[in-house]
Amino acid sequence: MADERIEEITKKIATYPDFPKPGISFKDIFSVLLEPRVFRNLMAVLEERVRRVCPGVQAVVGLESRGFLIGTPLALALDIPFVPIRKKGKLPGKVKQVSYTLEYGTDVFEAQESSIKKGQKVVILDDLLATGGSMKAACDLVTAMGGEVLLCLVCIELLDLKGCEKFSHPFDAVVKF
Ligand code: AMP
Repeated sequence: MADERIEEITKKIATYPDFPKPGISFKDIFSVLLEPRVFRNLMAVLEERVRRVCPGVQAVVGLESRGFLIGTPLALALDIPFVPIRKKGKLPGKVKQVSYTLEYGTDVFEAQESSIKKGQKVVILDDLLATGGSMKAACDLVTAMGGEVLLCLVCIELLDLKGCEKFSHPFDAVVKF
């Protein structure tokens, strides 16, 4: 049976052609956040999936920056820690790094050294999966720090780009375009 909550979330996601540059069709999760009922339904769907697929999860890892918006309420709902992964130079204290390839050049993700414990089971969360480069880099960083990735979870997957083929961890998306 179709989940009416997901149908409504799908309708609320606004699309901006050619943003931030020509050829990119930007899917805007902020249009969901404007409506508390729809936002709450999105959070409920994410929580249900995590509880079903990985009941033993011990931390939510959110990717900068829209992964923070959905990662923090998810961590609170599950009553587990929230761990941010940010672009280079934004987190204080000792950090672990991973560099990853972009369309042009490279970028670096960082996490605070003590934020992920050895053997800790995590779900990695972001708003959207496009090429999968960010998610793969986050998986590599968590794994290098000794964490175990139980699930990679996003609100939106862009199917054409086949981003989920970049990494081998279990993956789930609420809305697929
Ligand atoms: P990627 O590493 O190519 O999978 O890109 C995923 C990251 O870039 C996510 O953190 C998204 O917020 C952002 N992103 C990439 N493409 C889009 C898009 N078409 N619409 C909105 N956000 C995007």
